[in-house]
Amino acid sequence: MLACLSLLPALVLAFDGTRLLQVLVLTLSAWIWIAWPQRSDRGRAIRALLAGAIGCAFLLDATVRAFLLRTYGALPDSSMVTTALANTGRFEAAEFVRTYWPGMLQSALLFLLSAGLLCLLLRRWCRTSAIAATAAQGNWRRTVFLVMLVLLLTALAIKPWRKYHPFVFWPVWAQQLADTRERWHNAHLEQDDLKQRAAAQAPALAADSPDTLVLVISDSVNRDNLSLYGYARETSPKLDARLRQDDGRFRVFRHAWSADASTVAALNNFFHFGEPHSPSRDHLLALAEAAGYQTLWISNHDDIAIDLQHARLAGRRQMLNHVPGRSAASLDGTVLPALEAALQDGRQRKLIVVHLLGAHPHYRLRHPPDQAPFSGVRDTVYRELKQNGRSLWTRELRNDYDSALHFHDSVVDQTLELTRRFGGNARWLFLSDHGQEVGQVSDHTGHSALSPDGYRIPLVVWGSSLRELPDALARTPVRSDWLGHTVTRLLGLSWAGYRPERDVLDPHYRWQPPPHPLRIDYLS
Ligand SMILES: [Zn+2]
Repeated sequence: MLACLSLLPALVLAFDGTRLLQVLVLTLSAWIWIAWPQRSDRGRAIRALLAGAIGCAFLLDATVRAFLLRTYGALPDSSMVTTALANTGRFEAAEFVRTYWPGMLQSALLFLLSAGLLCLLLRRWCRTSAIAATAAQGNWRRTVFLVMLVLLLTALAIKPWRKYHPFVFWPVWAQQLADTRERWHNAHLEQDDLKQRAAAQAPALAADSPDTLVLVISDSVNRDNLSLYGYARETSPKLDARLRQDDGRFRVFRHAWSADASTVAALNNFFHFGEPHSPSRDHLLALAEAAGYQTLWISNHDDIAIDLQHARLAGRRQMLNHVPGRSAASLDGTVLPALEAALQDGRQRKLIVVHLLGAHPHYRLRHPPDQAPFSGVRDTVYRELKQNGRSLWTRELRNDYDSALHFHDSVVDQTLELTRRFGGNARWLFLSDHGQEVGQVSDHTGHSALSPDGYRIPLVVWGSSLRELPDALARTPVRSDWLGHTVTRLLGLSWAGYRPERDVLDPHYRWQPPPHPLRIDYLS
């Protein structure tokens, strides 16, 4: 049973509590092969090989899980990981390896060491167990074998346990991945469907609906890192100034949350009114088009999934960045001339979506090299991170992240300025798809499904119609997957599927927490 110990370090990193215990029971499917006494050399060798192969499958499974958990705080079957993988080309895969090679190397070393130890122990078993056993020892071994068999069969009979056997988990996982790819392949059929459904809703426009609505969707912005929300560093001076000069039109929602910790899932939820998997789901862009808005998508993202599922529903698309993934160096300022041209073009009612890279990793590529106000800074924020045990790597990334937000502030402010100047009777809404963990609760940087900061987003709305709303509204918690209802209200659009209890601007609004996998204080 020493062989079991060789798996333990990898398993402890991948599972905790009862789950670890369950997986340990499942590993009996390897050890059971060497539990039955066997005399022939050949029989023992074959069974040692089988035990080794199954043991290595558990090791590989645990190594991958531990790596994902450490890097993203995510499980392999989370939508975060499957959508990222279904969406990944060969170029992005190479880039991923370049970014995460230190962590991957550590994981690979642990795997090789554990697998090596397992092989050594099994070889030893092959040799020592050849010595003829006494009758009493034989009986004892048979009893152990039977106990193991009963335990293993019980574990395999219980579905939530069985799921964690690598031979059960990974085939299902591969199928899920193939299904996701297939869905995207059929995206154009889905688009026709969504357009027909939108027309069937017969959406109507109110007399006072705006000339323009600019919807700025940013990426990976944690509101706690904006001075607009009280952060100690001045990361959003332009928006701070807007708030100081506010005449009731500029509304900052203090407690905004995303339901998801990654882009594809968050945008699916947002554009489908929080019901992306419902067979009768609606799409915000299709509805706006059907109501008579000209829709335009201006993007600094290069993302196949977003393009197929959302951008292509817009009447026009301007994709300004052609480098997918985190090494894209296209700065968000690139959207501004396109936005200005769109605002000045024609008189028709417009819904313009501006999709920014925001503060998506790599943070250093999200601001011009000569505009890094927090590079090398050693202020209270930095010292606090150090006191809380954050590594030098995390502290430096926090400086890069805050510099990215500082540049981002100027871009977001410009989108509002252009809207104000050229949008006629206009409304403007800014949010981030999801948050980001940059050393807030642990020594982790990046997307995070297991920390509140992965979901903590900014939400700001501007427009004259907001003047009439009470100030207390700013303290109401909001979730971005319901926000589509608020956007249709801002568009002056009435439609059958509108749910006032999900529209934060409606008196009937009723907050309910999103189905997050962790406990969150939503007023924090
Ligand atoms: Zn994102």
